[in-house]
Amino acid sequence: MSKFVVKHVAVLGAGVMGAQIAAHLANAGVPVTLFDLAAPEGDRNGIVKKALAGLRKLEPAPLAGAARLALIEPANYDDHLDRLRGCDLVIEAIAERMDWKTALYERIAPYVAPGAIVASNTSGLSIDALAHALPASLRDRFCGIHFFNPPRYMRLVEIIATPHTQPAVLDQLETWLTSKLGKGVIRALDTPNFVANRIGVFSILAAMHHTARLGLGFDEVDALTGPKIGRPKSATYRTADVVGLDTLAHVVGTMEKNLPDDPWHRYFTLPDWLSALIAKGALGQKSGAGVYRKQ
Ligand code: NAD
Repeated sequence: MSKFVVKHVAVLGAGVMGAQIAAHLANAGVPVTLFDLAAPEGDRNGIVKKALAGLRKLEPAPLAGAARLALIEPANYDDHLDRLRGCDLVIEAIAERMDWKTALYERIAPYVAPGAIVASNTSGLSIDALAHALPASLRDRFCGIHFFNPPRYMRLVEIIATPHTQPAVLDQLETWLTSKLGKGVIRALDTPNFVANRIGVFSILAAMHHTARLGLGFDEVDALTGPKIGRPKSATYRTADVVGLDTLAHVVGTMEKNLPDDPWHRYFTLPDWLSALIAKGALGQKSGAGVYRKQ
């Protein structure tokens, strides 16, 4: 297997995950160019800069020290796509929408360096369907790379191949993720929500279902699914706020749409009150209001 040297990473999307993945890489001394949409007025890298400033408010801390920020270069797709040519790894972490991801892949493809690996941090969209938005020349170096939130602290990364992915690509990524970032890597099949979210999101939905059935409070359910059973954090409603309620809805939608014969299919839906929060823009921690701080 040829050695995969990662000198510079592009992270596409400076949201909840993209900004924290960039910080995690910077902590490990890896230079990153962090892309997001161009802000329409003023500083065109404003979305990325705001996201980086927001990292300071997160608990637990995503950055090992303020100096690490210097390793993260802000960029936007309109002005800076050329910078992709200098990246050996491109990690896409934009919103969980197949149409938005595939449109972005078509846009970036001409700028990706030959030999670079392109990988999606999707929570559970079909990696093979995403691959088809890339030209055949890039498809064999494309796969899923699913970090968990918060990426600095969560050890697991799922990597997912398509029928086109060269086996060496997964070997190279696994070696890099374990040796450079200290991750525990599992190779998941390209099934809806892969392994961890298929189980984890279902357990969140089950807890939400029983909240209403048993007339429990959010705090009670968080305690019961968190510290009371030995998990360090509250694992249902606070987790939903940290993940982002819109992202959770997309991930639940992936199961609802793609697993029609699953015996638990009727539970693959969010409570109406949670959908109503999303509709009014209360998306959890990232919007400042969610389950716990209502608008
Ligand atoms: P987010 O909503 O916090 O951020 C999404 C980013 O996508 C934003 O910065 C936004 O500007 C950008 N964006 C929106 N529309 C776009 C478009 N049309 N083109 C380009 N960029 C666009 O989302 P997130 O929580 O960071 O999730 C990003 C990815 O990571 C998703 O695929 C999600 O499923 C996955 N993921 C999320 C979590 C989590 O806990 N939030 C965990 C693991 C994986």
